[in-house]
Formats: sequence, structure tokens, C-alpha cells
Amino acid sequence: MDIPEILNHLGEEHERYFNAVAPPVIQSSNFCYKTVADFRNAIAHETHIPTYTRGANPTVSILHKKLAALEKAEDALVFASGTAAITASVMSLVKVGDHAICVQKPYSWTNALLNKYLVNYGVTTTMIDGTHIENFEKAIKPNTKLIYLESPNSITFELQDIEAVSTLAHKHGISVVIDNSYCSPLCQNPLELGADLVLHSASKYIGGHSDLVAGVVCGSKVRIENMFAKEFMNLGAIISPNDAWLMIRSLRTLQLRIDKAVSTTPQVVEALIGHPKIEKIYYPFLKSNPQYELAKKQMKGSPGLFSLLLKTDIKGVERFCDSLKRFLMAVSWGGHESLVIPFCAIAEENRKANDMPDNLVRFFIGIDEVEYLKQDILQALDKI
Ligand SMILES: *Cc1c(COP(=O)(O)O)cnc(C)c1O
Repeated sequence: MDIPEILNHLGEEHERYFNAVAPPVIQSSNFCYKTVADFRNAIAHETHIPTYTRGANPTVSILHKKLAALEKAEDALVFASGTAAITASVMSLVKVGDHAICVQKPYSWTNALLNKYLVNYGVTTTMIDGTHIENFEKAIKPNTKLIYLESPNSITFELQDIEAVSTLAHKHGISVVIDNSYCSPLCQNPLELGADLVLHSASKYIGGHSDLVAGVVCGSKVRIENMFAKEFMNLGAIISPNDAWLMIRSLRTLQLRIDKAVSTTPQVVEALIGHPKIEKIYYPFLKSNPQYELAKKQMKGSPGLFSLLLKTDIKGVERFCDSLKRFLMAVSWGGHESLVIPFCAIAEENRKANDMPDNLVRFFIGIDEVEYLKQDILQALDKI
């Protein structure tokens, strides 16, 4: 199925809702049935026949179909946040006594889940540099059940060879989970490379307008049905039908937004190459990236995030960021607006674990005029 068909048509049944082109928000917690037989049937199939909105809801179900198809998965679940999707995925694969391997510099709450929270439930984690396959091999123990990837991560964009890691993991009966938020389902499909569960913070590209928080997990029917019966129903971190409707609307333009990011971001990055105030540029599709070949192999495009290591101290970073006019200073990314985050604004204890120096600044290129963005960064560099 092609992408526009998924975004525009899949899962939609206009004749069931007055031929409306836009599907309705089914803002109902509860669903009723006329006969015991129908009621029994609904309860027996609560993953897709609505009985109660913590399980299935018709508006949310449209989204499940579209997101599964985008990730080339058999099935998908949508959660209240990316973090809920991470927590459900990890908890579906480990129990007391198990061991996990996670790549360095993951999303901060992934780090907290594995290294602070799950420690209390008897799960241990080894953090490794995921750029070399040998590091995975060395970290595997007899009780390793999970390898957690983020390729690329969202700060300095180190990659993992998803195919090689998945092959190695499966030889040892280990499951592979990957946070694919940076790429969106349009720039990378890790299930095709062997990963077992793919998750997204839909608050970023999938939502795309900085107006909702949500998460997605995609995988095989068996894995998703197991997760539905346990982590999904038990944690209860569902999104509202109204937010699901907003996400369906966001998906209409996902390809336009990603195509734009994939074409404009390299133009901004190129304008900065060799600048005397820049020590290093981090961007997966930069030819000087030591992992450029791997990035080209497993990613269809490199969208809107990149980072700069500035040749200055905290005061210089402050002058630089305070001088930017077209970039909003904020966390998150993936919306319409261009953003900047100076990591020196984050508490030092949180930065140390993730190796974020004072002079590291991350940019997000939104739906903006490239020339203005380039000029804005260049004039701010002069203020350093
Ligand atoms: C934002 C983000 C998350 C967490 O998503 P929320 O929706 O904010 O819970 C996870 N992974 C990455 C890479 C992110 O950028």
C-alpha cells in the first residue's frame, strides 16, 4: 500500500458515519449491545470491538490501522505519551531477574526507566556504545531479554546497525525494541530490518503541530495482542478520542512535512559547514559523519534535527541563543515551529549521564523559510 493511501484512506468507512470525509470523534467511554450474544462477542474481541474506551475506541482504531501500515507492522497501539509507549514496550519484555542492554544517550525517561525505576523490580541494564556491534556481543548475558535501540538518538545522532543487532539478538533469543521517533515511519522502518517492536513519541513528527502528547508501538499481531492484554490495559495510558482525531488529521500532511524537513535541513546544515565558531556539526546525513554510509543504508532521509558544538563557553552560548530571532527556545521538536535548545540550560546532573557539554546546542527545523533560518543562525554566531 502506498503512503498517501494509508494517510488518506486506510481504516476509514465513510458510509458508517453519514458519508463524512473526516471521521467523527467517538467521545464515548462506553459501548452498548442489544443481545447477550453480541455483548459476549464484543467482550471476547475487545482489542478491536469497542466495549470500553480504555480498550478499543473506533476513532483510535482508525489510527492503529494507519500507524501499523506506515511501520509495515501487523498491528499497533497508541498510548497517552511516547514515554508510556516506551514503558509498556520495555515492561512487556522483562521481569524480575532479567537483564537489558540499552544504547548510551537514550531519551532521558528511557534512561530513568531502566536505570532508576526498573532496578527496584529486579531488572538490571547495561548501557553501551551502540556504534560497534562487538559492544552488544560483549554485553549479552544468559539472562538478557531485551536490547533497546534509538537509531539515531535525538541529541548527537549516533546510529546502530539495526539489521546486525537484530540478527545477533535473535540468535540469543533476545527481543529488540527501537525508538524510531527521529526518523518517523517515513524515513526508517526498523521492523523490515529485524527489530521486534518499534515505538514513537507521536508528540513529535506524527502529531506534528505541538498541540498533543501521544505515543505509538508497532509490532507483530502476537506481540501487540499480548501487550494489549497486559501493559496497555493495566497501565491504562490511553489517548483520548479527541487527541486520536487530531493525530488522524496530522497524518494527512505527514509526508508533506517530512519531505520538507528532509529537503530544507541539509540546506541549513550546509550553510554552517566550516564556520569558525563551530567546532562540530552533528547530523546523520553529513558526509563527515563516520556513520554516514550506515545512515544512507538504513534511513530514507534525515529530517529536521541537528546539533552544533560551538567554539565558546556558557556565556557565548547564551549570547548566541539569546540573539536568535526565528527559533523558539523550547524542549520537544517535530512541530511546525523551528526550535533551539541549549543544553547548558539543563541541570548538570541530568546532562552528565548523557554526555551533553555546555557548548552543545540542538536545532529543529520547522516549516520555515530556509534562507531566514540560515541568516538567523549566521547573525547569532557573530554575536558569540
Ligand atoms: C520526546 C521523545 C520521547 C518521549 O515522548 P513523550 O511523548 O514526550 O512522552 C521519546 N523518545 C524521543 C526520541 C523523544 O524525542
